[in-house]
Amino acid sequence: MFSVPSLFGYASFVTSFGVGDGSWLAVLLKAFSSPSRKFDDFLPVGSEVTREHAYFEVEGGGWKMGRLFLHGARLLSRGFCSLGSNRISVCIVGSGPAGFYTAEKMLKAHQTVEVDIIDRLPTPFGLVRYGVAPDHPETKIVANQFSRVAKSERCSFFGNISLGSDISLSELRENYDIVVLSYGAESDRSIGIPGEDLNGIYSAREFVWWYNGHPDCFKMAPDLKSTDTAVILGLGNVALDVARILLRPVSELAKTDISDHALASLQDSTIRKVYLVARRGPAQAACTAKELREILGMKNLHIKIQQVDLDISPSDEEELKNQRIQKRVYELLSKAAASPHCPPAEQRELHFVFFRKPDRFLPSENGCTVGAVHLEKTFLEENGGRGERFAVGRGEFEDITCGLVLKSIGYKSLPIDGLPFDSHKGVVPNLKGRVLSSYQTGHEAVEHGLYVAGWLKRGPIGIVATNLYCAEETVASISEDVEKGLLTAASGTPKPGRQGLLQLLENKNIKFVPFSGWEKIDAKEKMVGQQRNKPREKITTWEELLKASNV
Ligand SMILES: Cc1cc2nc3c(=O)[nH]c(=O)nc-3n(C[C@H](O)[C@H](O)[C@H](O)COP(=O)(O)OP(=O)(O)OC[C@H]3O[C@@H](n4cnc5c(N)ncnc54)[C@H](O)[C@@H]3O)c2cc1C
Repeated sequence: MFSVPSLFGYASFVTSFGVGDGSWLAVLLKAFSSPSRKFDDFLPVGSEVTREHAYFEVEGGGWKMGRLFLHGARLLSRGFCSLGSNRISVCIVGSGPAGFYTAEKMLKAHQTVEVDIIDRLPTPFGLVRYGVAPDHPETKIVANQFSRVAKSERCSFFGNISLGSDISLSELRENYDIVVLSYGAESDRSIGIPGEDLNGIYSAREFVWWYNGHPDCFKMAPDLKSTDTAVILGLGNVALDVARILLRPVSELAKTDISDHALASLQDSTIRKVYLVARRGPAQAACTAKELREILGMKNLHIKIQQVDLDISPSDEEELKNQRIQKRVYELLSKAAASPHCPPAEQRELHFVFFRKPDRFLPSENGCTVGAVHLEKTFLEENGGRGERFAVGRGEFEDITCGLVLKSIGYKSLPIDGLPFDSHKGVVPNLKGRVLSSYQTGHEAVEHGLYVAGWLKRGPIGIVATNLYCAEETVASISEDVEKGLLTAASGTPKPGRQGLLQLLENKNIKFVPFSGWEKIDAKEKMVGQQRNKPREKITTWEELLKASNV
């Protein structure tokens, strides 16, 4: 077990000793070379976090440039006056948990670090706003902590700036001493089977973005009225979130920050049966016990699990012995299967289907909408001698008739021009957060000044708090590199940092949303929400978001 050193302590140590040129690095290093923190200490009380793979089953309108740039100039003077020539400029791309934890760690480590966080959206917080389910408000409280970071003297938020289209990686690297990429995973793994492009088939990411009011998905309009059955492929926590939203009484969802359009659609939904389909067995289910318990405990929900799927092999037993959460998940499923069935009146059904993999999607009578999922039964087979077991088809098939399919088989990061990218794993190759341009074992070459954190670094695994540990590792690498003098510009002249970014944006006539612009959006959403007895009514279009952000 490790202790949790106080980062505030380190920050005040730095301040009180007035650490100057060079020597601050020793302090920075000291902060991060101390024994690693006990991870659970950072989790909300009652959290059950031990499984990295918990979230998947995978094997301008109307605003004035002048005012914005005035704001930019204010930021500029604020930043440069206080920092002097020791300033280290850091640009973090992506304002999700990984981005904010990285910013927080960098800022706390020393007084001369100046951090700019850019995000393609006008709103900060990444999946805390657009991933976490509306009926999990307690998980979103972390946004308050991130807001304090954004409002700190040496940090600035630049929303509505997209890396790759508005601004290039090379431009950022020319302007900042350090660039940390934490832009998450905004694409999907595909299954690659026939019929995947039929209407009515969506990725869970799109569906989640839709009900959470992401401006890229407000037009999605999934048809929830022409079928009584939805199939969800995958059995991680995202799959459970999606199933819960489809099955939860609308009266309960109405009190959450679910988007208005999703609530209206769910109100008219005819979906009564949801199938959760997993390639492997209940002993390998990728969800966590807390989320499973929540859905199993929903009122008026009939849980169906085939008893035969719960039979476990000696290998399963061995696997469960070492996996506390997995064991708990298995026990919960067994208990649910054995519970007496409630009377069916008005009931909705949740079916857990194990040992099945999708073989193809079949069209409905109209030929363009999904009508069924053709599944192949599977068994588990060890492959590669590492003890890992994979689902292998048995050659026996069956169909589930349905009108909606949600694929919850994993998010995937997107490459950016000039950034090394491992397309097979869907991550940026890195060594403890240092981006590698060549990553053949024994021949690793590091891209100096370029780092990654979060889902872009590790893949789409782990909960919000996992990114704290991940950010710590990246910041520790940065500290080591600065200490070694690896990040000093070849010319010896400091990079322009924020001033350079502002100049670049001005030259390109690109409008950004500062944090105060987000606060305007936030205030408006909360005000409308209050009138509707919800925490907030999210603004769901780009145009309206930009309009509301006007400062
Ligand atoms: C559906 C879902 C539900 C979840 N629920 C929970 C939960 O209840 N509890 C929990 O602890 N964890 C939950 N998680 C996990 C948690 O959300 C992630 O661990 C975490 O958000 C990953 O952080 P990140 O910063 O790497 O990525 P993200 O949160 O995705 O942040 C990435 C940011 O980068 C921005 N960006 C993307 N591309 C660009 C670009 N080109 N230029 C500039 N900016 C860009 C995005 O707009 C976004 O703001 C959930 C995840 C999902 C998918």
